[in-house]
Amino acid sequence: MEHKQKLLSKLPKVDQTLQDQRLFAFFEDTSRDLIVESVREVIAEERAKILNGSGSAPAFDEEAFFQAITERISQKKRPSLINVVNATGVVLHTNLGRAGLSPSACANVMKIAKGYSTLEYNVKKGARGSRHSHVESLICKITGAEAAMVVNNNAAATMLCLSAMAEDKEVIVSRGELVEIGGSFRIPDIMARSGAKLVEVGTTNKTKIADYKHAITEETAAIMKVHTSNYRIVGFTAEADLAELTALGKESGLPVIYDMGSGLLVDLSSYGIKEPTVGESLKTGIDVILFSGDKLMGGPQAGIIAGKKSLINQMKNHPLARVVRIDKMTLAALESTCRTYLDQEKALKEIPALRMLSEDIQSMRSRGEQLKALLDDSMFFKCRVVEAAEQVGGGSAPTTELKGIAVKLETEIPAEKIERLLRKNNIPIIARIIRDAVYFDMRTVADEELPIIAEAMAAIETAIRRSRS
Ligand SMILES: *Cc1c(COP(=O)(O)O)cnc(C)c1O
Repeated sequence: MEHKQKLLSKLPKVDQTLQDQRLFAFFEDTSRDLIVESVREVIAEERAKILNGSGSAPAFDEEAFFQAITERISQKKRPSLINVVNATGVVLHTNLGRAGLSPSACANVMKIAKGYSTLEYNVKKGARGSRHSHVESLICKITGAEAAMVVNNNAAATMLCLSAMAEDKEVIVSRGELVEIGGSFRIPDIMARSGAKLVEVGTTNKTKIADYKHAITEETAAIMKVHTSNYRIVGFTAEADLAELTALGKESGLPVIYDMGSGLLVDLSSYGIKEPTVGESLKTGIDVILFSGDKLMGGPQAGIIAGKKSLINQMKNHPLARVVRIDKMTLAALESTCRTYLDQEKALKEIPALRMLSEDIQSMRSRGEQLKALLDDSMFFKCRVVEAAEQVGGGSAPTTELKGIAVKLETEIPAEKIERLLRKNNIPIIARIIRDAVYFDMRTVADEELPIIAEAMAAIETAIRRSRS
């Protein structure tokens, strides 16, 4: 105990530590509170180490002490939301923020975020305007819809749509389409929250149009179809298609809602993505379509509701519309993204998600070769440019495998260790592990990110060499 007391008495005091010249540089651009907090924490940890130690704790190491403080300060100053390199090949990676925005969308966000705007102001009339007006006509033009509105995300769109159209009434959904999207989004739960009563029809693998027909009662408010975005039912199956459902809707005077999930706006079938487009689906005469802004559309997080004017108006006027409304920065990104779609060729080139999904194998291979050249000549790693199977991600085209190119690391060092060190990089690099090897998928890595990977690998190599010597 006496020994511990002696060690404790040797610990520097907060005030005294703050006077040390090793911390001077920080005072220029760091808040005093943050520095003081860091010093307090490190001293408290030193104290705890001594008190919990066996009594034979090593002497106080001043150099290490200040190193710990400067590291703590840097750590506290580092933002939490930072860019990463997505080397997984999953274009719409929900955990990594789904779609990146086009240059024009980014520029427009900056512009609108900075100052005042016409968000809800009609300059011509000098009176209150509508937040929806900035994108409604664009969405109608691109999709062929009669009317449209936008909300925070597609989950919100579903909630608003069901609340406005079916509160305390019944909505018929196939048992094969009671989707869970991930997290807490489950169709039956959203339905319950919206106040609509779910009426399940058919079976998991087979639902026929007659099943819907038999379930219609006085209480029915709508028929709903949900795109099975992240799974497919294969084998002995049947489902009612949109045309059959809209015909039934017309016959029985009921609106038909389609939660499409991923809102594909241009035909990508020649690139191996066989999903229906929003425009094709609307042509069947469906009443309302709901889709995400940041899945295959490649825009910002948003929920887009397109369809019949009378129904859209009902939703615009519902109290929940305010709860789930879109903000101005998102709207700025969405308007730019929509404008890009007016020229489909341009959309494929400028919208990052579409560009990645439509990139040809030669160009990915050449990027792989570039990375290989940057990484080569290592004692620890050999790399090979290999073919890879990739997924679209973000609840889009779940059974589609895209043929891509990856750089595979061949090394004695465990893949998990490299993968972990890559994540700890200043700009974290998220790689894939397949059968004990690390892969960098080229589809989602930009040219300008190749040096980031190369530098991180060089640093990892140096660290490993040092730990071995
Ligand atoms: C992704 C998805 C949603 C949720 O959309 P968010 O924009 O992520 O809220 C809802 N329904 C379906 C069918 C989806 O695929």
